[in-house]
Amino acid sequence: MDASAERGPSLGRLAGKVAVVTGAGSGMGEAMVELFCREGARVVAADISGKQDELAKRIGDGCLAVRADVTKADDVQAMLAAATDEFGSLDILCNNAGIAEYVIDEQLLTTPDVTEEKYDKVMDVNARGTFLGLHYGIPLMMERGGSIINTASIASFVGIPWHIAYCGSKGAVMQMTKAAAIEFGPHNIRINAICPAGIESGMSTRPVLDDLIGEMTKAMPLRRIGKSSEIASAALFLASDESAFITGTSIVVDGGLTAQ
Ligand code: NAD
Repeated sequence: MDASAERGPSLGRLAGKVAVVTGAGSGMGEAMVELFCREGARVVAADISGKQDELAKRIGDGCLAVRADVTKADDVQAMLAAATDEFGSLDILCNNAGIAEYVIDEQLLTTPDVTEEKYDKVMDVNARGTFLGLHYGIPLMMERGGSIINTASIASFVGIPWHIAYCGSKGAVMQMTKAAAIEFGPHNIRINAICPAGIESGMSTRPVLDDLIGEMTKAMPLRRIGKSSEIASAALFLASDESAFITGTSIVVDGGLTAQ
């Protein structure tokens, strides 16, 4: 059964809102776009891959595909302008695009194996990309308020081996979430993070990860891997007015992994 069939009828929880989602070509970003559109939002689906075009075509009216590299200020500005120009406002921004880059030639990389270039690449997409979204997105929300949702990770608060750059970048995402939330709470711009772990997505479907995923499944209190649609559900809550008094914090969606 697909995610939309599982969910039942739309309740219009985002009716009248305009959202931008980065990393929309795959995994969680794709699931967020689908769910937000279903709940009545008009959505700019942004990705570097080109896969956002297919998604927007599938959804039709109310979804606009934009090619954007979140590490490039011009691209981020153009992606946000697409929301205000085409749909009239920016109410929700999901800074979701991210990379992990912890495998080369099917080998897991320990800290000495990670080149400076690799480190910079991960920091650029995950940390700088989130910063650019906040930097250019917040001013567009000053009049109406808004909700920004940064996809962080359990790596924001627990160490994960072979993930030196990823842990650094996701720690930065969480701390930026808090700092910006304090600054812009008085303007009713809420800024929160989602901290996933063990979610089936483009990032987790590589042969070398099969063993790790098997181990993780055993370690999960819920004894399974999560779905991207389950991250989209948390994003929907944070995007909607149902979370109107929540800012500067995170929702952990990890099957209970970090509870133990
Ligand atoms: P994914 O690989 O399926 O999707 C990531 C998307 O980001 C891809 O479509 C990719 O093209 C896009 N992207 C990469 N670099 C980009 C750039 N420079 N500009 C624009 N788009 C870019 O992976 P996912 O699991 O859906 O990842 C979404 C977010 O979730 C990421 O921030 C990731 O770090 C985070 N996350 C994932 C997991 C997990 O278990 N899958 C766990 C914790 C956090």
